[in-house]
Amino acid sequence: MPTAFDIVIVGAGPAGAAAAISLARRGYAVALIDKEQFPREKLCGDFINPSNWPMLEQLGVARQMFTQDHEIVTAFRLTAVSGALAEAALPALNGSAVHGLGLRRYFFDQILLGQAQAAGVTALLGWRIKSLQRLADGWRVGYGDGDSVQELTARIVIGADGRNSWVAHHLGMARGASKRGGRIGFQLRRKYAPGLGGRVEIHLFPGGYAGLLGLGDGTINLCLAADRRRLGSQVGIDALMESSLPRNPHLKNILAGSEALGPVRSTYPVYFPPRRSVDDGVLLIGDAARVNEPVSGEGIYFALRSAAMAAEVIDGAFARGDFSARELSSSELRCRAEFRLRRGLNGAIRFLMYRPALLAPFIQLSGKRNRLLESLVHVVCRPEAAI
Ligand SMILES: Cc1cc2nc3c(=O)[nH]c(=O)nc-3n(C[C@H](O)[C@H](O)[C@H](O)COP(=O)(O)OP(=O)(O)OC[C@H]3O[C@@H](n4cnc5c(N)ncnc54)[C@H](O)[C@@H]3O)c2cc1C
Repeated sequence: MPTAFDIVIVGAGPAGAAAAISLARRGYAVALIDKEQFPREKLCGDFINPSNWPMLEQLGVARQMFTQDHEIVTAFRLTAVSGALAEAALPALNGSAVHGLGLRRYFFDQILLGQAQAAGVTALLGWRIKSLQRLADGWRVGYGDGDSVQELTARIVIGADGRNSWVAHHLGMARGASKRGGRIGFQLRRKYAPGLGGRVEIHLFPGGYAGLLGLGDGTINLCLAADRRRLGSQVGIDALMESSLPRNPHLKNILAGSEALGPVRSTYPVYFPPRRSVDDGVLLIGDAARVNEPVSGEGIYFALRSAAMAAEVIDGAFARGDFSARELSSSELRCRAEFRLRRGLNGAIRFLMYRPALLAPFIQLSGKRNRLLESLVHVVCRPEAAI
């Protein structure tokens, strides 16, 4: 196996795999390291937002995604503890309806990784990054399992290792991204034969919200985000499932008609603000750089988009032979400019999701004039042209 690469990417989730595909297609030697063997399960709502389609087409994976169990999603439903309910169709583009997908990350991430390998990427799976050492002309990267450490070199390192990014922490780039918000997330699957009729659903409960999505195999994905400060000792998954969630009558029905399946995954915090994402010879992309409130199902979008921008900027850096933070910073600036509207909207939605008293009149109103909700859904779900 070669040990000298142009680029080493840490993390083979959507951000890392997408960056690997784009860079390998441009002719670079790319190594992709992940601590997990694939396919692997991943905490996520499993919603493929329609905003992703042009990028998924460009990456060459869109068709493969339909070969696995999936659910076509054409509508969004929002409900309140009072039982009020609002619905909106996903947007139409050039006269035709677009749809999202319920697809397990187990499948999605494996498809992206397979495409990266087909593009010539060297995938080093089941290995954790252990060390990063600056050299005069790049990096020496140590990776391994237990005490065994192997090494490779690269000009550029991409940190795509998710919200708890080892790369960001190790290089002092995680400062400033405080554990803001105090919200905890959970994810589990349940058997639910009736299905959700092609809807992605958000149900408010006191202290948080639950997202539901069909996966096309008789199961649904249930994700929760709950405010630890408001729920006090009730924040554990059992207390939430027994006392908080059933306060919403829609959730109560679905929970009563479904059955637990597999383990519960948790994450903390649910949201944190952007980190500094470039330094000399290094870039952070995807969740390693920024984490939004998951309610809008845009995490994969931000991951794929930031990967595409990073690949373009890295290509320019190689062309000029300049790998300085200054050269790479155009990636951060482009992300900031491109994501401004979506991040602003996500912040507003985040504010409302934990204040059901403010959101309830909106749901009531949307129920009657659902144009309001539809406009919001259209901004969040409109397909964005690939870069
Ligand atoms: C509750 C919840 C629900 C969500 N629902 C949705 C949704 O429905 N739709 C959506 O689009 N987004 C959703 N998101 C967000 C989405 O999951 C993330 O934004 C997305 O996974 C980010 O992709 P990534 O590639 O940046 O990171 P990740 O998917 O986290 O991938 C990081 C990879 O790095 C690897 N790694 C980590 N540390 C190391 C290390 N030290 N060495 C080697 N490898 C390492 C991991 O094994 C992993 O494979 C949700 C998030 C939460 C919290």
